[in-house]
Amino acid sequence: MAGTVTGPKRLTPGSRPCVAPAALAEPLLAWFDLHGRRDLPWQQAATPYRVWVSEIMLQQTQVAVVSPYFERFMARFPTVKALAAASLDEVLHLWSGLGYYARARHLHAAARRVVDVYQGALPTEFAELNALPGIGRSTAGAILSLALGQRHPILDGNVKRVLARCFAVPGWPGHRATAERLWSLADAATPETRVAAYNQAIMDLGATLCARTAPACGRCPLSGLCRACAEGAPTAYPQPKTRPSRPLRATRMLLVHNPGAEILLERRPPAGLWGGLWCLPECSLAEDPASWCLARFGLGARSIEALPRRCHDFTHFRLEIHPLRLALDGDPTTVEACSERVWYDPRSPVALGLPAPVGRILAESAKTLHICGHQTSDDRRGEKP
Ligand code: SF4
Repeated sequence: MAGTVTGPKRLTPGSRPCVAPAALAEPLLAWFDLHGRRDLPWQQAATPYRVWVSEIMLQQTQVAVVSPYFERFMARFPTVKALAAASLDEVLHLWSGLGYYARARHLHAAARRVVDVYQGALPTEFAELNALPGIGRSTAGAILSLALGQRHPILDGNVKRVLARCFAVPGWPGHRATAERLWSLADAATPETRVAAYNQAIMDLGATLCARTAPACGRCPLSGLCRACAEGAPTAYPQPKTRPSRPLRATRMLLVHNPGAEILLERRPPAGLWGGLWCLPECSLAEDPASWCLARFGLGARSIEALPRRCHDFTHFRLEIHPLRLALDGDPTTVEACSERVWYDPRSPVALGLPAPVGRILAESAKTLHICGHQTSDDRRGEKP
């Protein structure tokens, strides 16, 4: 993002400007006209549906990560009706690796409601849109402003940062009083015209110049208006949540094979961690895996091999995964597939929603099987996996 946009007269460090929120729009729009992003996939032929999917994917996730997921998702589900007609499994499969899977479940549930109640067209009334699963106030505002030009403020993480800094808003944005103050500023700052460009501009500014740790105030079109910049402490806003250090949880994941080198997966309950996704059977570190298998499958363990430990970070805790490769003592085919249990071949995977660390363990397992020349059904047919 090169170049400098001439903004209002720069304030001297330490001064305390009192700027009307409406003053943000002019310099922001001038900057956007020169430097704003216009080549993002969801900005092409922007419809409410495309903006909706992109806004949900962009929650907690960066543009560079989202772009390929968005392209694949749109290729498979070009319309709300196509998304509603798909199984949740297929939606979760396309979401695998993007994280925060409740977003995908809500997206799918909302698509079905849009088909049932609105004949497949997203409602264009704010209250109706805001009432759909997974569509909060900021997302509804983004859909209606970016796709249809309606005047609604938005307040995603980037916008919160810009406003908190420009107006030196104290407190953590998750606190009700701080959030209300930021919403009030967002509303007052949103212009009557060029709303889509303004909302895109303030999001872009937060995503580029007004970065979390190293804001480029020297190139920012708002530097002459910004209280945090004038105080010489832009990163002091917004204030972080004070929270205890992330606790550690541990689990054991079992790679249970059948003679065809397929691996047993079980579907997790619909709500909660990795809800609805397919995972390896899990037992606690305190349990004996052979006894656990006997109780769960009616078969003990013939051999157990420990695999390298892995860690996966969630927002509120770190999960330490202890994988074990386990051969059942008896005929594994007595453990039958059903709607909540499948035998999965990692060398020719079918479309299932897998949490990222489970996908990595399975991919690693497939390589190991191949290197070891494991006798598989495909090998027996003389075909290369
Ligand atoms: S002047 Fe600095 S802190 Fe203020 S909005 Fe611009 S980049 Fe952010």
